[in-house]
Amino acid sequence: MNNIGVLMTCPMSEYLENQLENRFSLFKLWNHSSPKPDFLKTHSSSIKAVVGNTKIGADANMIDSLPNMEIVASYSVGLDKIDLGKCKEKGIKVTNTPDVLTDDVADLGIGLALAVLRKMCVCDRFVRSGNWINGDFGLASKFSGKSVGIVGLGRIGSAIAKRAEAFNCSISYHSRSKKPNTNYKYYSNIVDLAADCQILFVACALTEETHHIVNRKVIDALGPKGILINIGRGAHVDEPELVYALLEGRLGGAGLDVYENEPNVPEQLFSLENIVLVPHVGSDTEETSKAMADLVISNLEAHFKGMPLLTPVL
Ligand code: NAP
Repeated sequence: MNNIGVLMTCPMSEYLENQLENRFSLFKLWNHSSPKPDFLKTHSSSIKAVVGNTKIGADANMIDSLPNMEIVASYSVGLDKIDLGKCKEKGIKVTNTPDVLTDDVADLGIGLALAVLRKMCVCDRFVRSGNWINGDFGLASKFSGKSVGIVGLGRIGSAIAKRAEAFNCSISYHSRSKKPNTNYKYYSNIVDLAADCQILFVACALTEETHHIVNRKVIDALGPKGILINIGRGAHVDEPELVYALLEGRLGGAGLDVYENEPNVPEQLFSLENIVLVPHVGSDTEETSKAMADLVISNLEAHFKGMPLLTPVL
């Protein structure tokens, strides 16, 4: 397979880069002095696969400029950076990395909820600053037993539910359809879900329909005692509305892994103590990044050997 051209869109994993380099003729889109369109034009005939991620996937321009592309293998589960319609139209296969990252993202979601409610980051700063000597920290809020609402009861949403159940939380959810194999309470309307829960987790896929699914109405329904945890995508939440709500005390707190304009985060958030911010690291553990890379490689090898894909999207 050494003569098959594979294009990586941006740096994502050194291990993946090495594995790709060992098997294919690897092109790194960020590693060239020529402008992107010129680079794609020069190498378009040899590139048969694109490996993208949550930052740069395969948009219509890229797909159009690579006429021999057969497959897009995403080093992520989210598909929002891939023009799926265009891929379908051109018969380009698409794969992603589901399941292998589910535990990590769900763990982080629960970790964020605990960190916000138990004020872990504020506590950490309190101890480091030496202020403990002047008196005790004060009280935080309990996580166990709270009512949890989940937007998108897919792989990650279900894993969050399972974890939250172990904390004796009641679970309810919103998605496009009621799931047959669960007793969790279903809400066809996200505003009603937000009004009836204390912690709202966002774990759905980002599509045109779910862009800003958490808007001012949802935030106000969650209310001044409610906590929003977003481990989905930044664009699920109307970020300016979230910032206003937090600044005005209309929302109790937030734990965020994802943002609308990464890596830029609204600076107004930095001084707030009722939020915890992490830099889109949901699946970023040594173990999971290797598992994701291995799955990308296995999908590409299967495709070029004419075998069925392990995790096909298209
Ligand atoms: P999944 O199993 O496909 O679940 C996605 C869920 O979204 C489905 O259950 C679907 O339910 C729901 N959904 C789709 N459209 C919806 C709508 N209009 N309204 C409400 N719910 C809707 O995917 P997953 O593996 O759990 O991953 C979920 C998302 O997490 C990914 O798409 C990605 O964006 C994000 N993610 C983030 C990180 C991170 O690092 N923070 C890492 C991995 C993934 P219905 O079909 O019933 O509507």
